[in-house]
Amino acid sequence: MDSLPTLFISHGAPDLPLQDGAVTAFLKSLHQHFPKPKAILVISAHWYSAMPTVSTAVAPRTIHDFSGFPAALYKLNYPAPGSPELGDRVVTLLKQAGIPCQTDSARGFDHGTWTPLMVAYPAADIPVVQLSIQYYRDATYHWQLGQALEPLRQEGVLIIGSGSATHNLHAFSAQYDAAPPSWVQQFDVWLREAIAQQDWQRLMQYRQLAPYAHENHPTEEHLLPLFVALGAAGSQAKGIQLHQSYTYGAFSMAAYAFTSLNFH
Ligand code: ZN
Repeated sequence: MDSLPTLFISHGAPDLPLQDGAVTAFLKSLHQHFPKPKAILVISAHWYSAMPTVSTAVAPRTIHDFSGFPAALYKLNYPAPGSPELGDRVVTLLKQAGIPCQTDSARGFDHGTWTPLMVAYPAADIPVVQLSIQYYRDATYHWQLGQALEPLRQEGVLIIGSGSATHNLHAFSAQYDAAPPSWVQQFDVWLREAIAQQDWQRLMQYRQLAPYAHENHPTEEHLLPLFVALGAAGSQAKGIQLHQSYTYGAFSMAAYAFTSLNFH
């Protein structure tokens, strides 16, 4: 089997499955880009822990980890199975790389995982496992975490980092299609260009080098999954942008694919 790309997806606000716009159209078409994965490993902005933790539940529950959204959103469930087998494989790979880790057999799917997958893979017939990020560790650490996962790409596992290319919760508009302010666009463009130029060292120093980095990411958890996806694409990674749009003004919905092979 050819290696699968790795992805970074911006999930934006939790009401993604209730929306109908450019980003949901993109997610619905995502499956056309590569063969159906055997399993999906999601690194979500909404699961962080001191030590990398792998979900090993057989039937993960859907977690409605948000408040203030329409009642219909709380009725949605994503019944994809888990995969203790893939969970064990992730643990093995992390340990081989010298990264201490643990498992959690009770963990369900947070909305960083289930809201984009519900749109992209609505049949919910592909097993899904989650791996937590380490909130207080930097981009380089998460890139190395991703490197340990690279063999999964040859094993039919689709690795998805789920976060947001820009994410300032104090600046979002009540209007879904609000235009983004300049400081959001400037960071988003910088990110796109750094990825297009494959300037990974520069990218990993985004907090020092990118315009309005702290304004767009007051905390880092929504960008850290990108570095895991990048690391898992290997040392010769190339990145291409799959999607670009904005929601609620403050959220870039940018999505990227990373691969070490030609990818169309
Ligand atoms: Zn989020």
